Amino acid sequence: MKLVFERSQPGRYNAMLPELDVPKYEIPKELEREQELRLPEVSQPDVSRHYTELAKQTFGVNDGFYPLGSCTMKYNPKINDEMAGLPGFAGIHPLQPVHTVQGALEVFKTAEALLTEITGMDYMTFQPAAGAHGELTALLMFKAYHKANNDVKRNKIIVPDAAHGTNPASASMVGYQTVNIKSKENGLVDVEALRAAVGEDTAGLMLTNPSTVGLFEENIAEITQIIHDAGGLNYYDGANLNPIMGIVRPGDMGFDVVHLNIHKTFSTPHGGGGPGSGPIGCKEILKEFMPMYYPERKEDAFVFTTPGKTIGSVKGFYGHFGIVVRALTYILTLGQEGIPEAATNAVLNANYMMSQLSDLFDMKYEGPCMHEFVMTLERMKKETGVTALDVAKGILDNGMHPPTMYFPNVVHEALMVEPTETESKETIDAAVKAYREIYQKAYSDPEYLKAAPYHTFIRRVDEVKAARQPILSYQFED
Ligand SMILES: *Cc1c(COP(=O)(O)O)cnc(C)c1O
Repeated sequence: MKLVFERSQPGRYNAMLPELDVPKYEIPKELEREQELRLPEVSQPDVSRHYTELAKQTFGVNDGFYPLGSCTMKYNPKINDEMAGLPGFAGIHPLQPVHTVQGALEVFKTAEALLTEITGMDYMTFQPAAGAHGELTALLMFKAYHKANNDVKRNKIIVPDAAHGTNPASASMVGYQTVNIKSKENGLVDVEALRAAVGEDTAGLMLTNPSTVGLFEENIAEITQIIHDAGGLNYYDGANLNPIMGIVRPGDMGFDVVHLNIHKTFSTPHGGGGPGSGPIGCKEILKEFMPMYYPERKEDAFVFTTPGKTIGSVKGFYGHFGIVVRALTYILTLGQEGIPEAATNAVLNANYMMSQLSDLFDMKYEGPCMHEFVMTLERMKKETGVTALDVAKGILDNGMHPPTMYFPNVVHEALMVEPTETESKETIDAAVKAYREIYQKAYSDPEYLKAAPYHTFIRRVDEVKAARQPILSYQFED
């Protein structure tokens, strides 16, 4: 397709600005740009067609089944956007006097009240822009907490080996060393290995539950107690909150902080579909270290306050407000009964799909799963040469998005499937049929799968080259 720069024609434009009705401000000469900015010059139909064409080449949750494990690609109800688009929300400015945006602050406080109820925490900040950003924020608070207690020798964060890569990355950005704990054969944390790893240098633990292999940690209360006894703090990676929301609460399991991925669990767009939101909830002991701009009700008005020993700001202003409106809409729509119902349906859908596939595909872990399940294609690869990547490409030809591949790292030739609660039995049955056909194909005609996909806009890409030599800027001919 043509790039937007290739559609550009000198003098073509699509903005219709009103007459200037404020005093003209002359930009100082030294601040002026030396060269003209080369923006594409296109009409409104050009822009509309450009983005429509782009949208047709990609695949989103509105196109079809999207069981991307760990990402919770559920359907985002349209009423969320309707509420976020209300002029009183969409048209406000972060520098507006706070008495003119009382409703927006009430949104924060209401969302905080509901999400602390769901997580069992005391307070919540909406400043972090994504899950990984929430991890970073929380670890900065851990550090500030230990420092305030004059406990500065604590420089290690314990992370189980099945964790998302962002956990050790966040620890290292805060200047902590990561101590890896091996999982047991059954996928759960090895409690004895954990006991052996803690000490006076333990700053805290980062635990994902249900874990990244879709299992609920059986010894969770014991795990958090071990860390607390050693003087450390417990961090709950809440990316997988979907199967437990409204049923059990991290705050009751001994955790001091939890991050939520609003864009996973609470039905707001992911990545390219819109900004994310990774609020963190914390217990009372960490309140004074929270980021700035904490909204509070003082007498009969809402104000922004600065916690006493705040770690400072981790983001401009207050986080992605429009996303918080969407999440709040979702929670209020589902209500106290709908939230746990969504969670149990997510678990039911995953177990149904796993059971329909487990006679052919090797499931990595025995027994029921939570919201996602992990299969290993090691045997298939040995017997046919077909890899998890080839299977994923074959799935694309069925008008479905593949599952997460090669994650978690502890499972070889992994495919991790998370159907979510918003898929119907018919959709899951169609997916099961496609997976089963691909399995047969791997044994009858492996070469066919090696060259898949056949029916997508772009065939198989060179993934290494795409990652190592991406071309991210337009090269003008002159
Ligand atoms: C998605 C995810 C994260 C990171 O969240 P982002 O919003 O993508 O930064 C962290 N941990 C787990 C287990 C996740 O699935």
